[in-house]
Order: sequence, then C-alpha cells, then structure tokens
Amino acid sequence: MQLKDSVVVITGGGQGLGRAMALYLAEKGARLALIDLSEEKLQESVAKCEELGAEARYYLCNVAKEAEVESVFSKIAEDFGGVDALINNAGILRDGMLIKYKDGQVTHRMSLEQWQSVIDVNLTGVFLCGREAAAKMLESGRKGCIINISSISRAGNIGQTNYSAAKAGVVGMSVSWAKELARFGIRCMAIAPGFIETEMTGSMKPEALEMMTKQIPLRRMGQPNEIAQTVCFILENDYLSGRVIEVDGALRI
Ligand code: NAD
Repeated sequence: MQLKDSVVVITGGGQGLGRAMALYLAEKGARLALIDLSEEKLQESVAKCEELGAEARYYLCNVAKEAEVESVFSKIAEDFGGVDALINNAGILRDGMLIKYKDGQVTHRMSLEQWQSVIDVNLTGVFLCGREAAAKMLESGRKGCIINISSISRAGNIGQTNYSAAKAGVVGMSVSWAKELARFGIRCMAIAPGFIETEMTGSMKPEALEMMTKQIPLRRMGQPNEIAQTVCFILENDYLSGRVIEVDGALRI
C-alpha cells in the first residue's frame, strides 16, 4: 500500500499509541480519520497532524456501540471517498483478580461488569469497526488492510482475565479475517505490543512498572513510535497477512 494519500482510520486516536500512529502516518502523507471518546484529545491529535501538513478529521464514537460505529464509518467514507486501512487500537484496562480467598471465605473479585466492559471495547469494538471498515473498502472498490492491536497479555496474565481473553480473541479474529477477506484483496494483521510508555501504562503503580521493566530483556519500556513504525511496515508490505508481530523488547509473559 502506498501511504501517500491513503485513507487510514485509527480508533483511540486521541492519545497514546493511536496519536503516535496518526503523527507517524501524517508524516508519510496519509489522510487520517481519528476516532475516540474525547473531543478535546481528538482536536489536539488533529491539530498536530495538520501541523505536519496532513489532512486529518476527528469523529466522536464509542467503538462498542453498533449504531455509532455504522454511522461513523458511513460519514468517514463520505468525507474521504472511501477507506484504505483501519487500525483497531482503542482499548481499556479494568484489571483485577478473579476471586479472593480469606479466612475460609471465597468472594468474587472480578465483577461481571469489569469483565464485560473490557470485552465490549477490546473485542466487540474490534469486530464492529473491522466489519464496517471491510464493507467500506469493498463498496469503494479498494483493496485494504486492517491492523488489530492485541497485546503480549494475550498469552494470559495474572489480574487480566478480561483483558487477556479479549486480546487473545483479537488474534483469532485477525487470522479469520486474513483468510476470509483475502479474496477481496483485504489483508489483516495483529500487533502485540509489550510495555509501552503511554497514559495507559502511566496509570500503573511506579513499583509495578519498575518490577516489570526489570523483566524486559532490553531493560526498558517501548516507545509509542516503535509501534507506529510497525504499523507503517505492515501497511507498506502487501504480502503480510494473518500474522501477529510482537514488539516487546523480548519480554514473554
Ligand atoms: P491509552 O489509554 O493511552 O489510549 C487508548 C485510547 O482509546 C484513549 O484515547 C481512549 O479514550 C480510547 N478509547 C477507550 N475506549 C474507547 C471506546 N469505547 N471508543 C473509542 N475510543 C476509546 O492506551 P494505549 O496505551 O495508547 O493503548 C492503545 C492500544 O494498545 C490498546 O488497545 C491497548 O490495549 C494496547 N496495548 C497497549 C500497551 C501499552 O503498554 N501501552 C501494551 C499492549 C497493548
């Protein structure tokens, strides 16, 4: 895919990895449609893309809501004349242990609401946006590429029943789409980042971050640009599909 003038939709484009991807692709001349929940954050991302000379627009949308996703993708296709790529990046954390056992008493620690909220955004949101993006790529007669952001936590991680299940599901969905949509010239890949310095990891306790960093063989957290660069590599390589690229400083969970 030629990045110059390609229409790239990025969910969660208001901050963190999504914003870094937007700026990286803006420098390459892509046209950007950024989706998020916060208007203020989106306006800031769009302004930064425009400073780099790129065309960028923002769209307020909750990726977990079917009607909102359908309507936002129709609007994007109308505004830009089609869609060439989607980066399914929006995600949340609601960590917690499964159960608590104290003095012979067992209680639930992860609530159904905690489970469901992460599944809704990190798994259903990916499904809804991917389905709509694929439809718009076909309707405008374009080949395209979908990149889903998974995580090294997809292998399973303490305190992340909900997040690990969603991120493993995202990998299964990516391979299914790679097989199913190849006949239309649509590729699908997943990226599994390790620990990357963003607002999301910034919310972790400093002791936990320090302990985690010590376990990373490269002895540092990743930078958002290192994920953005991987996005760019995938978009530009037309023979990549159906695989997960791990960008994690050699950390394995
Ligand atoms: P972040 O919290 O900094 O940014 C996530 C963005 O998604 C926010 O702007 C938020 O408003 C948006 N968002 C959340 N729910 C949404 C919804 N329902 N609809 C639309 N937008 C929504 O997180 P980040 O660190 O930039 O992570 C981006 C992605 O990368 C996530 O999927 C995350 O799980 C994944 N990831 C991050 C790391 C890391 O270390 N930062 C590691 C592995 C995977």
